[in-house]
Amino acid sequence: MPSDLIGAAPGSPVVPGARLVILGKQGAGKGTQAVRLSRHYVVPHIATGDTFRAAIRSGSEFGVIAKRYLDAGELVPDDVVIGVVKERLTHRDASHRGFVLDGFPRTVGQAEALQTILEPSRLDVVINLDVPTAAVLTRLASRRVCSSCGANYSVPDNPPKVPGICDVCGGDVVQRDDDTEAAIQRRLELYERETSPLVSWYSERSLLATIDGTGPLDEVTDRIVDEIDRRKLGAV
Ligand code: ADP
Ligand code: ZN
Repeated sequence: MPSDLIGAAPGSPVVPGARLVILGKQGAGKGTQAVRLSRHYVVPHIATGDTFRAAIRSGSEFGVIAKRYLDAGELVPDDVVIGVVKERLTHRDASHRGFVLDGFPRTVGQAEALQTILEPSRLDVVINLDVPTAAVLTRLASRRVCSSCGANYSVPDNPPKVPGICDVCGGDVVQRDDDTEAAIQRRLELYERETSPLVSWYSERSLLATIDGTGPLDEVTDRIVDEIDRRKLGAV
C-alpha cells in the first residue's frame, strides 16, 4: 500500500487526497466537519483560527498582536493571514495530497491570493455550509473549547465526560474569549460583509457546493462527502 493511503478507513472507497475549502458562518460547524473531512481524505486540516490561538497560547510576539484582533472579533490583516497559509501549504503533506482549509479564505483578497498560491493546480470544491443565523447564535452560546488542544464541545448536547476537562488531552474546557455577545455580533457582521461575497465568487468559478449544515453531524458529513466524491469523480 502506498504510504499515502495509510490512515484511510479499511474497505472505504475513499480516494485519498482533496483540495478543499469549507465556508460558513461562525457556529455553522465548519471546524467539526473540517476535522472529519481531513480524516476521511487523509489530508491536513488547516484552520487559521486554531493557528492564531496556538500562537496566542505560546505567548510569542506574533501571538500578542493576533490576540488583539481575535478578542475584538476583528479580522487579522490579509497579508498576515496569507503569509501564514502560504507557508503551511508548502509543507509536503499539503502540497502532495491536499488540505481542508477552515477559516481561510475569508475575504475576496485572500481567495485571489489562494488561487495564485495553488497555481498551476486548483481547488476541487468549496463547501458552503449553510445554517440559519438563529441556529448559529444558539450553537455559539453553548460552544466550549479545550484551551490546550482546541477540541470542540457544546453544553448540554456534547459536553466533555468530566465537566470542564478535555476528553482528548485533560486540558481545561472553557468558553472562547471571542464567544462573547459583542464579539460574536462583530464576527457575524464581518462574515456578511467580507466573507459572504466569496459564495458568489466561487460560484462564478464553478467551485461552489452549498450543503445544508442542519441536522445530525453524521448526516451533514455524509452530504458533504457525497458532493465531494461526485466532483472528484468528475460527475459534475
Ligand atoms: P470563527 O469562525 O468562530 O470566527 P475562527 O477560529 O475561524 O472562528 O477564527 C477566529 C478569529 O481568528 C477570527 O475572528 C479572526 O480574528 C481570526 N482569523 C481566522 N482566520 C482568519 C482569516 N482568514 N482572515 C482574517 N482573520 C482570521
Ligand atoms: Zn484538549
